[in-house]
Amino acid sequence: MRAARGQKVTTSSIGFKHGLIFFSLVFASSLFALAESPVASLSPAPELTLPVECEVGVSCLIQKLVDHDPSTERRDYRCGNLTTDGHDGVDIRLRGLDDMLLGYAVVSAAAGKVLRVRDGEPDISSRQRGDLQGKDAGNGVVIDHGDGWETQYSHLRQSTVAVKPGQQIGAGQKLGLIGMSGNSEFPHLHFTVRHNGQVIDPFTGGLQGSKCGAAVSHTGLWAARTSREIGYVSTAIVSAGLSSIVPPRAVAERIQGQKLAGANAPIILWVDVIGAKAGDVQEFFVTGPDGRSVHEQQLVVAGGGLSWFAYSGKRAPAAGWPAGRYIGRYVLKRAGTIITETETKSQI
Ligand SMILES: [Zn+2]
Repeated sequence: MRAARGQKVTTSSIGFKHGLIFFSLVFASSLFALAESPVASLSPAPELTLPVECEVGVSCLIQKLVDHDPSTERRDYRCGNLTTDGHDGVDIRLRGLDDMLLGYAVVSAAAGKVLRVRDGEPDISSRQRGDLQGKDAGNGVVIDHGDGWETQYSHLRQSTVAVKPGQQIGAGQKLGLIGMSGNSEFPHLHFTVRHNGQVIDPFTGGLQGSKCGAAVSHTGLWAARTSREIGYVSTAIVSAGLSSIVPPRAVAERIQGQKLAGANAPIILWVDVIGAKAGDVQEFFVTGPDGRSVHEQQLVVAGGGLSWFAYSGKRAPAAGWPAGRYIGRYVLKRAGTIITETETKSQI
C-alpha cells in the first residue's frame, strides 16, 4: 500500500510581522524628515558584512527578505516572493533546533555603539508561547552606526547577549547566538537596517517600499565579499529525512535525529523547501540496502510559497524491510530542469 501527499505550509503559518518598535523607540520623527529621499542623498551608509558566523547555503539559509510591496501583497527586492507582507528585515535561518544548540554567532555588521539590548526571553516557538507582550523581537541588540544609521539583531538565543548599552564595538564582533526567542517559529536571525527610523533594504540600500527589481547590479549596503556570499537564491532545501512517521511541519516540534523505526515500520521521505513554485515537479526516490528502488513517486507542487513541506512513503512489506542502509533522494524540477535536490540516509 502506498501513502503519499504533499502539504503546503501557508505563508501565514510561518509568516510574522516584527514590530517596528523595539524596546522604547528613540527617534522623534519630526526631527528627521528624509522620508522621500532617494538613496544617493542619505548620509553615508555603513558598509555591512554578514551579521552571522555561518556559511550561507550550507549551515544557514536566507529564508525571508524585506517586503517592498506597499499593499498586502509581498515582493522582495528582486520582485520574487521570498518575504511576507510588511517584513522589515532579512531572516537568516538555521536548518533545525540541533543547529541552534550547536551555537552560531550573531555578529555586528559594522562598527558602532550598542544602543539597546534585551535578554531573558525563552527560545520557544511563538505557536506555543502565547502572548508575547510586545516582545516580538525576543532577545536582541540595536547598534548605532552614526548619521542616523542603526542595525537591529532579533530572536537571539536566551542568555547569550554578549554586549551592553554604550559599548563601542567593531565590525564582526560577537553579539550573541542565533536563537528563536520572540515571534519566531524556527531558529533564525532577523536583521533590520534603519536610517533615521526608516527601514532600509540592505540588498538595495534603498527604502523598504522602493520599487523592486531596480537594484540587481550593485551590492546595496553589503561589502562586495558579503554580497557574493548572500546572492539571491529563490529555491532551496532546508532539510530532509527518512523516518517512519510523518514529522511535524513545524521545525520547533520536530524530534531531532528521527530515524527509521524498524523492519515493519513505514519508510517516509520528507522535505522542507524554501520557494517551491506551483507546477514544480517533485521526485521522491528511496533505495534499499541492495541499491534497488523500494519507493518512487512524482508529486506536482500545488501551491508552493515561502515554505513548502512534502513527503512520500510506503508501508513495510509483509516480510519486513531487509536490514541495511536506505537512501532517500528528493529532486525538485521546474520546466524539466533540476532546481534543487538532496539526499538523506538512514539505517534499519
Ligand atoms: Zn524576520
